[in-house]
Amino acid sequence: MEQRRGLRRLKQGYQVNVLGTTRVLGVIGHPISHSLSPAMHNAAIRALNIDYIYVPFHVLPENLESAIEGVRSLEIAGLNVTIPHKERVMRFLDEVDDGARAIGSVNTLVNQAGRLRGCSTDGPGFIKSAEAAWGKIDGCRALILGAGGSARAVAFALAGIGCRIVVANRTFERAVELVESVGAGARAVRLDRQELAREIAEADLVVNTTSVGMHPNTDGIPLPADLIRPGILVYDLVYNPPRTRLIEEAERRGARAVNGLKMLVYQGALSFEMWTGIRPPVDVMENAASACFGAERTCEA
Ligand code: NAP
Repeated sequence: MEQRRGLRRLKQGYQVNVLGTTRVLGVIGHPISHSLSPAMHNAAIRALNIDYIYVPFHVLPENLESAIEGVRSLEIAGLNVTIPHKERVMRFLDEVDDGARAIGSVNTLVNQAGRLRGCSTDGPGFIKSAEAAWGKIDGCRALILGAGGSARAVAFALAGIGCRIVVANRTFERAVELVESVGAGARAVRLDRQELAREIAEADLVVNTTSVGMHPNTDGIPLPADLIRPGILVYDLVYNPPRTRLIEEAERRGARAVNGLKMLVYQGALSFEMWTGIRPPVDVMENAASACFGAERTCEA
């Protein structure tokens, strides 16, 4: 059954011609079999009719260094890097750009004639996707729920466009650590009803960067639903399921809500542009990623 699903996905995802000249892109992670990225990037490659292919590589943590050496020796043009390698991969690269260094993780690796440069498109992808949905959000007042890896990317990106940031996290100390590294007047609060009620009343935008509501625990919601007010912007980084309880409750209460699929697509589009120099069609990428949820509901980044 699993094998048949894999073959079906392979047929959907790899309809590109592979020639002697074809340049290889890919994603490394552990696990990797449910990644949406191959479907998304190969759809863009097909739409643009360019000589590339994008492949998922399963890399165990103990093989990360040799895998990165392989990128050089096999002349792989570029990679996405996903869990659990986003932090540790930095030590094996020739250069890490300032944005990735600040958030402490790399999601994109560019091979420039054997010199490997690491960067992160997570934060810029978040901003671009939010602006595609809602228009400019510079200077907004943002309440970020969560203080993990994705919260770091979102917090630095929002601070970079002049937003006022408040971080609420279950483990308060992690929220404090995050706001101290972001600076720019960012504040930490506890993830409790009273504090959330006060902060949400002052916020233009709420971003859920926790895994609450994610498959298979889809009943979860990261804040009390009755605190959501009409007109507020709600961005849920979770995209599996595409309609989380947070998205549904937000829309029911007149908020404007976006799910994490858009961030996934825009961070991928920015990586694609770095590797190929071509701006890919984001609608094609989004349709390809969404189609995975039609086929099965266990997809991941
Ligand atoms: P992470 O580094 O493991 O951080 C997880 C965060 O969730 C922490 O702040 C953790 O709080 C909080 N959390 C977990 N369970 C909780 C609970 N039951 N109640 C309250 N808080 C809870 O994970 P991540 O990489 O940031 O990813 C978080 C989510 O974002 C995942 O759903 C992931 O799929 C999604 N994501 C989406 C994109 C995208 O492109 N759309 C990109 C990256 C991540 P503690 O600190 O207290 O443990």
